[in-house]
Amino acid sequence: MKNIHHAIIGAGLAGLACANRLQTAGQKVEIFEKARGPGGRLSSRRRLNTTIDLGCQQLNASTPEFNQQLKLWQKQGWVASHNQQSFYGIPRMSGLTRHLSQSLKLHLATRITCLHKQGKDWWLEDELGKLYGPYQQITLATPAAQALPLIAKHSTQLSQQIAKAKHLPCWVAYFILPKNIAVAESPQSNSSQPLSRWTLLNNKPEQQAQLSRWVVQASPEWSQAHQDLSAKLAAQKLFAHWCNDAALSLVEPPLLLEAHRWLYAFTSQPLGIAYLQDLAQGLNVCGDYCLGSLAEDAWLSGDKLGKQLIKTSN
Ligand SMILES: Cc1cc2nc3c(=O)[nH]c(=O)nc-3n(C[C@H](O)[C@H](O)[C@H](O)COP(=O)(O)OP(=O)(O)OC[C@H]3O[C@@H](n4cnc5c(N)ncnc54)[C@H](O)[C@@H]3O)c2cc1C
Repeated sequence: MKNIHHAIIGAGLAGLACANRLQTAGQKVEIFEKARGPGGRLSSRRRLNTTIDLGCQQLNASTPEFNQQLKLWQKQGWVASHNQQSFYGIPRMSGLTRHLSQSLKLHLATRITCLHKQGKDWWLEDELGKLYGPYQQITLATPAAQALPLIAKHSTQLSQQIAKAKHLPCWVAYFILPKNIAVAESPQSNSSQPLSRWTLLNNKPEQQAQLSRWVVQASPEWSQAHQDLSAKLAAQKLFAHWCNDAALSLVEPPLLLEAHRWLYAFTSQPLGIAYLQDLAQGLNVCGDYCLGSLAEDAWLSGDKLGKQLIKTSN
């Protein structure tokens, strides 16, 4: 096996899947993540001594590969399920990505702003001007819109391909109520209404608690139309919609009411291919947008790219 050093930008599910595949095969990997923790859209936020899953709410498998992976994570105690169909990270979604990154070399709070090529070697530059390298293979495991500015001057071929992927934003309001209340069932997915889904986190295995924790997801249409709202106003508006559509008996105000905007939440137009490579440059891209809009798509994309990189380095 050639002595290849990989750098992966983005510690979401795709980047972590790719990194774990490479490291298990004995390759040298480092991951760079702009946030303070790994997880990307599988992240959770700590509030009032409890946690809220801010993005992905459940993991489902439609392929044998991801089904097998979910069963393995369940055996390891990293995810749980009450119906063997929908799985949740334990004790929260980011618990899964913490486990997936535990043996990896991770540079957190490190936003990569520029890629430099010198001969066959790559160097990464962060927003403070610090350089990391040399690496022989670079993988961008970020949403397409965040990969584009980094690869634009190095690969026209990749840039043109990933520019075809389109993302949709999503506002998420999360709130904590003092006690359980009667609530109408969430729609499966209703994109034309202001709210497309609401989730009671206490219903997830291992997430039972005294306080009632809710995450309300706005529809893509509402999120797009209200993209520039302040988080405070978005939280108030979405909570009002939820009270109207769902809460049947709300008497007390929430103990916490906040909102988060995911700018690149979902893919409206995936690429239809698991990953892309510019072989001459040693540049690769993976992420959910290659195949679809779900966590499964992200994992499959990163895992398949990892396997391909191992094959080509032998
Ligand atoms: C509100 C919401 C609800 C969802 N619900 C579900 C669900 O119920 N079921 C499901 O299967 N899927 C769901 N999804 C989709 C799922 O979360 C994603 O498909 C999946 O997490 C994407 O993983 P990824 O690794 O491709 O990208 P990401 O998770 O976005 O990871 C990319 C990472 O790259 C980092 N990054 C970006 N640019 C840089 C840079 N320049 N330098 C360093 N780091 C950088 C980002 O910080 C991020 O951590 C949901 C998503 C959202 C937003």
